[in-house]
Amino acid sequence: MTAPVVLVPPVSGDDDNGDPIAPVFADWQDWYEQILSQWFTQDPDAKNAWCPGWPEHPLAAAAVDALWRAWEVANLDPGPSMATFLAHQCFPIMRELVEGGTFAGCSAARHRPTARPLP
Ligand SMILES: [Zn+2]
Repeated sequence: MTAPVVLVPPVSGDDDNGDPIAPVFADWQDWYEQILSQWFTQDPDAKNAWCPGWPEHPLAAAAVDALWRAWEVANLDPGPSMATFLAHQCFPIMRELVEGGTFAGCSAARHRPTARPLP
């Protein structure tokens, strides 16, 4: 599994009451399993499918880590931050990953990447 480069927790410190702030989820994999993979569904025969080996795609792993971090920050706000997260971060990033060629060669059933790193 490809690990993101940044290892700093997405949220930390104390809230207005002096209580410690900690991430809801331990890491990006935990957040993916409990949140992201539950939100998004797909047709197994879809042309552009989410790869079952997605963590092996460096951009997908980095994007899921970034989304987890943004979600943790948005989750601290009882206001519109989660809607902003969805509209301006989550949906565009997920759309780019699925439709942008990140998983070229792969299918919903098999990790078989054909894309290569930039020269
Ligand atoms: Zn793949």
